Amino acid sequence: MKADCIFCKIARKEISVPVIYENDNFLSFPDANPKIKGHSLIIPKNHYNTILDVPNTLGSELMDCIKNTSLNLMQKYSATGFNILSNNFDSAGQVVKHAHLHILPRQKSDGLTFF
Ligand code: AMP
Repeated sequence: MKADCIFCKIARKEISVPVIYENDNFLSFPDANPKIKGHSLIIPKNHYNTILDVPNTLGSELMDCIKNTSLNLMQKYSATGFNILSNNFDSAGQVVKHAHLHILPRQKSDGLTFF
């Protein structure tokens, strides 16, 4: 854990967020600046700088959190699809230096474009 890390504070429940889903090692909650309705984040509860630092042994729990969070968001926002995005290191646009995934529930003509 890093004392000054905003996502560590969320993981430790020092900052309160509406939890979408959690298991022993991962937690999901709405992004504070959503790019689209339902835009949410998945974080590991322990501090890892990027996805490269997350232990492979947590892969199954990460998939569990991805699937449950995405299904929850698709139902809640009547979405017909979703994107998973992860910014790693400065050059890829990572602002918060605690590994995380963005989950973006999608509609056919919601206007969001990536590429
Ligand atoms: P990035 O590091 O570029 O992948 O983006 C970090 C994301 O974290 C941004 O989309 C922010 O809006 C989001 N964010 C930062 N602080 C908080 C917070 N306290 N609660 C929820 N989302 C946050």
